[in-house]
Amino acid sequence: MTAPAHESHEFRAEIRQLLDLVVHSLYTDKEIFLRELVSNASDAMEKLRHLEATEKDVHSPDLPLEIHITTDKEAGTITIADHGTGMNHDELVENLGTIAHSGTKAFLDAVKETGKPPGDLIGQFGVGFYSAFMVAAKVEIHTRTWRPDGEPLVWTSDGQGGYEIEPATGDTARGVRMILHLKEDQKEYAEEDRVRHLIERYSNFVGFPILLNGTRVNEVEALWLKNKSGVSEEQYKAFYQFACRAFDEPSYRLHFSADAPIAINALLFLPTENPEKMGFAKADPGVALYSRKVLIDPSPDGLLPDWMRFVRGVVDSPDIPLNISRESMQDSALVRKIGTVISKRVIKLLEKEAAADPEKYRTFYRNFERFIKEGVAGDFTHRESLAKLLRFESSLTDAGSVCGFADYVSRMKEGQDAIYYLVGPGRDHIETSPYLEAFKARGLEVAYFTDAVDEYVIDSLGTFDGKKLVSIRQGGVELDEADAEGEPLGEEETTALCDFLKSHLGDRVTRVGKGKRLVDSPVIALVPEDGMSPQMRQMMKAMDENFKDEVKVELEINPRHPLIHKLAAAREANPELAGLVAGQLFDNALIAAGLLEDARDTVKRMNQLMEKAMA
Ligand code: ADP
Repeated sequence: MTAPAHESHEFRAEIRQLLDLVVHSLYTDKEIFLRELVSNASDAMEKLRHLEATEKDVHSPDLPLEIHITTDKEAGTITIADHGTGMNHDELVENLGTIAHSGTKAFLDAVKETGKPPGDLIGQFGVGFYSAFMVAAKVEIHTRTWRPDGEPLVWTSDGQGGYEIEPATGDTARGVRMILHLKEDQKEYAEEDRVRHLIERYSNFVGFPILLNGTRVNEVEALWLKNKSGVSEEQYKAFYQFACRAFDEPSYRLHFSADAPIAINALLFLPTENPEKMGFAKADPGVALYSRKVLIDPSPDGLLPDWMRFVRGVVDSPDIPLNISRESMQDSALVRKIGTVISKRVIKLLEKEAAADPEKYRTFYRNFERFIKEGVAGDFTHRESLAKLLRFESSLTDAGSVCGFADYVSRMKEGQDAIYYLVGPGRDHIETSPYLEAFKARGLEVAYFTDAVDEYVIDSLGTFDGKKLVSIRQGGVELDEADAEGEPLGEEETTALCDFLKSHLGDRVTRVGKGKRLVDSPVIALVPEDGMSPQMRQMMKAMDENFKDEVKVELEINPRHPLIHKLAAAREANPELAGLVAGQLFDNALIAAGLLEDARDTVKRMNQLMEKAMA
């Protein structure tokens, strides 16, 4: 599509709101605009370099990939120019005005929710370009696309209601030349010294030469190729924040090189803040793939397992061909191998850090446990090693303290061959559950899981260190006889009582039997081994409103409990009362298990029982 001589466009509503915020922000730290525009220029040239490897027809292929910044004090302008991809007419419209990127709305929400100044947030949402209007009264973009059939264009806007596009006159080379006509009170950005200081702060992490008024300012530095001893903490942090586009401090860092099985140089960071918190969208992969300092893909999908998308940094391997495409990367054995090496290293790092400083790891874990759990559930290759990173409270930890499966295993009793756990809404809830009694009485540790996804995660894990993970909610758990008080009901009487209960409760129970588990409670409702826990049931219901599934449980009775003795006696002496008590005992067991779905009958029966008790 060719542009008519002169076009006026309106900004889309969200962009107008965004601009309104940016233009009128009282924010003092407006200087971030330069960082944003330089990184856009750098992105466009990375893309161009990639296009040169994959496309045969790139306009003016010999232009140097440099960023030229010029200041003009008299005119009150600063100009940022690159020879990157440039933009054609439709791209100008799409990228800079009409189609709101998903980032626009997220940005507006975040400004509202966090109350942070817009300048603090703007770069995080992929709307950095608009920061130009913090300092400029008018922005002019002269551009020529890399596509052979493009034409030079000028885009102009005062950042108010809309923008204009017209054909460029004069000489416009491929790329973008952005002229910022500075506002009266922002003329400092037309001063060379001021601008040089700004550039110096981060420009060493821009992968292209930056020239200020013709003089080179930066040295392009591939920090990841350097020796660890030659890199300072400040450099690492600056790299993380600038090159990885992060806005927090890194919590852990991994810098290594390996020769076998593949040559790799990697510099990776684990953030402090969860990028998916506050309802942010799912993060894109954050580890960029390079080959000999040339960016192959800033956010490769197939490099690392999906759960690792919170990790940021750079992996450089000279073995990767420069012209590898996004598609072939997905099924490249080499890329997969690199991914495996990196994943293993990251998991090992976390294991080491968790042992070295458990408190710090705990803080990290609070923010990132969902990613680790996602890995345990879905990443078959790393499941076992990731399981070591899980943390939980247990019947042997104090409230608020956590341990891992390795700690649990080290405390297992002689002869114990399973890891016992219970999923519930919280420690208090779990501790009052009737399921726990038997395990407490025998001194067997029970791991407590309280996150909504835990059920699914632990279920997928299945075993740890060769030991089966067993939910104590399930039937079929064999326990030794515990020392318990009281005489048990006789064998025959017990069988008769179980038969009575089974016939009285009918289809609602799959089995009634005597159990060794109970100490204080008269009965317990167990979920069959292939049955659903209350948490799982809730999740199914949330996902499917038509979800219907009869609660079926096993009922175990405690033959030592006085109530059971009395019920056995009443069975023949007072069958009506025995029937009411049986029904009520069963409902009580369901309530304790969090499985009672409809309490109407329960209430009615309860009233009948009270009436009888007071007769
Ligand atoms: P982001 O760069 O995070 O996507 P921006 O608001 O900064 O968001 O930029 C919007 C889009 O405009 C970019 O995605 C890119 O397509 C385009 N763009 C910005 N600057 C340039 C440039 N110098 N050369 C080519 N395209 C650019």
